[in-house]
Amino acid sequence: MKDLIIIGAGPAGLAAAIYGIRAGLDLMVVERLSPGGQVMNTFEVENYPGFEEPVPGWELMSKMEGQARRLGAEIASGDVASVRKDAGSGIFTVALNDGTSMESKTVISASGASYRRLNVPGEEEYLGHGVSFCATCDGAFFKDRICAVIGGGDTALEEAHFLTRFAKKVYLVHRRDKFRGAKILQNRVQETEKIEPVYDSVVESIDGETTVKGVTLKNVKTGKTSSLAVDGVFIFVGFTANTSYLPPDVLDGNGEAAVDARMRTSVPGLYAAGDLRSGSRRQIVMAAADGATAALEAYDYILGLT
Ligand code: NAP
Repeated sequence: MKDLIIIGAGPAGLAAAIYGIRAGLDLMVVERLSPGGQVMNTFEVENYPGFEEPVPGWELMSKMEGQARRLGAEIASGDVASVRKDAGSGIFTVALNDGTSMESKTVISASGASYRRLNVPGEEEYLGHGVSFCATCDGAFFKDRICAVIGGGDTALEEAHFLTRFAKKVYLVHRRDKFRGAKILQNRVQETEKIEPVYDSVVESIDGETTVKGVTLKNVKTGKTSSLAVDGVFIFVGFTANTSYLPPDVLDGNGEAAVDARMRTSVPGLYAAGDLRSGSRRQIVMAAADGATAALEAYDYILGLT
């Protein structure tokens, strides 16, 4: 039996592993995909302290992974199906979708969040054929093409700017007349000639034949619909927490893990850290801090068991 199982190897999970190992815990990290989390899809990170110049997302995360592994963290591949605590023994069982399971004294849930869908016709149909959720991964396929970016938050603003490296024009379609994203990113977008904001507009459908040919938009103020000819649609309308395997009673009304300032859920010994926890500001540095906090709390909890 492990002292600690950490679910997810993004910034929160890797920071938890680094702190957990240094506290002497026998731990394992379980990751569904490859280590690194969403940051792997970020072209450059310019607000993680310690890097004078912007650092590529993959580089930052491979350094975090390397640091955790150097200290001795074991990172296993696995898709968690459920986390249950035995009321009698107080031991957690982490069950995987392949039918296997592991036991531990504590669990840190750090499995992050997934891209929110628009849920409009064409979105799933053209996924990989013009519809994308990752400009860093797919931007280069749109050299000298026309793209639409959907959303008005930090991600949409950053990714629209990134896409101008390839695309000849980027429409930035937002459902309101003001962007939500940081002022510095708004300024960057405004100063970029290739980006044309389309305000007060929602996507009704993504249209095409074998690949995307355009989007049908509806102006929410006038009610009018219009077509925009584009070759690619990049959707950045927020995230939903990856919490399906957690006991329902630790989730809030948004499906996020409800925690206190010490990352404790309502189940003693079960912690949540990073983008899936309630009130997260979804910043790399904050996810890392959550992970560190949760690991130190897990250590204290285990001390209290003996
Ligand atoms: P977000 O801040 O939740 O913004 C989502 C955007 O999508 C909003 O503009 C929202 O419009 C719009 N939207 C939501 N549902 C929609 C729908 N169904 N149809 C059309 N538009 C829709 O998400 P995010 O930009 O991915 O950012 C997530 C978090 O990560 C934030 O806390 C952000 O600060 C952080 N982040 C930080 C950085 C950075 O620091 N460099 C980079 C990326 C992300 P409304 O504005 O009208 O609600």
